[in-house]
Amino acid sequence: MTKLLKTTGIITASILLAACNSGGGGGGSSDPNDIPGRDNTGVAVYDFDGIRIGKYSNACQDAPSVFATDNLYANISWEVAPGNQNPDGTINHDGKQHDVDDNVVKNILRAAQLSLEVLASDHNMNIVNDFNMGIADDEKLEICIVPPLGQHALATRNYFEIGTGRTNKNLDNILDHEFVHVTNYRVAKHPLSAEAWELWLLEGVATYFENRAQVSRDTMLRFTNTGFLPTDIISLWEAHLYRMAGGDQSIEYSSYSSVFAYLEHMGSTNEDVWNYFKLLGELETNCRLTQYEAHHNGYTDRETGKYFPPFTVGESYDYSERYDMTGMFCVNEDDEGYNDPSKENASVLTWVYDPSVGKEIAVGANNHSEIAFNQAFYEKTGVSYMEIRNKEFFSRNITNGFL
Ligand SMILES: [Zn+2]
Repeated sequence: MTKLLKTTGIITASILLAACNSGGGGGGSSDPNDIPGRDNTGVAVYDFDGIRIGKYSNACQDAPSVFATDNLYANISWEVAPGNQNPDGTINHDGKQHDVDDNVVKNILRAAQLSLEVLASDHNMNIVNDFNMGIADDEKLEICIVPPLGQHALATRNYFEIGTGRTNKNLDNILDHEFVHVTNYRVAKHPLSAEAWELWLLEGVATYFENRAQVSRDTMLRFTNTGFLPTDIISLWEAHLYRMAGGDQSIEYSSYSSVFAYLEHMGSTNEDVWNYFKLLGELETNCRLTQYEAHHNGYTDRETGKYFPPFTVGESYDYSERYDMTGMFCVNEDDEGYNDPSKENASVLTWVYDPSVGKEIAVGANNHSEIAFNQAFYEKTGVSYMEIRNKEFFSRNITNGFL
């Protein structure tokens, strides 16, 4: 399991696709696609004929765009025959895009733009400045419309894929959920590695902001009786183990979400939640700066006092570029090359203040989330990351104290 968690690289689209199953919509026998959603007719959509050429990968494999709004643009995916996906992720297509009615594309785009605006407005955030989502054409978030995705959608920092199986409130619900993910990533700025993302936390925030979900004490007991706490589910692996232990998938996200309801009860605000993602990004920036400094000017280990001269072997590396797409620059102590600048992947420690312990600690890929959590929530709530991961604390304060 440890090995699995240490796998580096940005979280992949498939992980999020599998992870996001929200927005089921209405209940009973009514079709959730028939429940009226927001009136988005006032959202401006204009023709946008082009292909984004920029630093971000194109979600729609360079399929030409068709329409845009202020912050988004939409493409329709290529029709791809089975087996025509190359190992590197590119596809072989015959230049034919799926046949999707213009009105369907425009409706998804309008609903998406409105969802983004509602999120920003509800949280007093600015789409361009706070969400880091520009209005120039090459800064817009790309929405790739993939009809075979049906009712599903997935979101990453740079693009959004969505099927054509949802309309009305059913469409609004999934957009509201996915846009929390997108904007969380945008606020964090860096493409963080899988270690920095905790499944319960990401889905808990998205679900909490989507509908303020909170479970009853009895439901939480059903969750924890599997032997797992919601906060144990840090990756799809633990989610799998939870289900194997008899866990009910339908209460997962709302159980994660209840942790945020508890934090709010203890004094945190929406702003603190957004700050968590901002701090996560700042930790990463700090690590990159420390690394850069050490490699160019030398480094004295704070614990041993040992001095390491400037790193010369790989001086030509552009560190920001080298790590921009692979994720974290904060490293684990057992990473190869740790504290040894003579090795190509040598890394040094970055020390940051953790208010829950009242001192600076070394940040690494395995405690990024913990430190950002404590920096964002500890002072106002008195609740530390270690505590919400602790069975006794969770039972006493959340299951039996709050719910
Ligand atoms: Zn999600």
